[in-house]
Amino acid sequence: MNLILFGPPGAGKGTQAEFIVDRYKVVQLSTGDMLRAAVAAGTELGKMAKAVMDRGDLVDDQIIIGIIGDRIDEPDCKGGFILDGFPRTLGQAEGLDRMLDEKGLTLDAVVNISVPDEELFKRIEKRAAETGGSRADDNAETLKNRLKVYHDQTAPVLAYYEKKNMVDTVDGLQAIDQVTANIVTILDGKR
Ligand code: ADP
Repeated sequence: MNLILFGPPGAGKGTQAEFIVDRYKVVQLSTGDMLRAAVAAGTELGKMAKAVMDRGDLVDDQIIIGIIGDRIDEPDCKGGFILDGFPRTLGQAEGLDRMLDEKGLTLDAVVNISVPDEELFKRIEKRAAETGGSRADDNAETLKNRLKVYHDQTAPVLAYYEKKNMVDTVDGLQAIDQVTANIVTILDGKR
């Protein structure tokens, strides 16, 4: 099963992805994690991405599409994958479609975790306090920009998949295990 886990920053995609990985034996492909690993390793990509990420802006589409394309070719993705944090722009969504076509792969589901902005602010503030600011982009100022970027550039991606009738939305204000239960119902229905 190949799926997209979609939602604003702080929606709980990472938490839910862990459950999905366990239950459906797929791998999680988080572009945020990949970029943070590149920053930590001090690669050329990491150097380039760091400032962009710290501002809460988006890394260039072609670079991200290239990273994901290479990752999907690895053998562990044969059993299926969750895209977490990608696609984040219409350009990335179109690039993904082309890429999957070329590779002879299909998308089985787009799960949208819906959470209003006020709640996202609360969550990120809490996460920033808990992690002692270990993520440079977990602060109110950057979050404000990340939410703006989400509404301006990422929300249209949802409309793109809605047009294809591929989206199932889950209420992300529910308890974590309730969100999980909803996702399981959706994904079991696609198997
Ligand atoms: P979130 O907490 O919003 O889920 P991520 O960990 O997915 O954040 O991403 C952190 C940052 O990494 C983003 O703000 C952005 O700068 C960069 N990034 C991650 N995924 C992408 C992408 N698909 N396209 C462009 N930039 C990305």
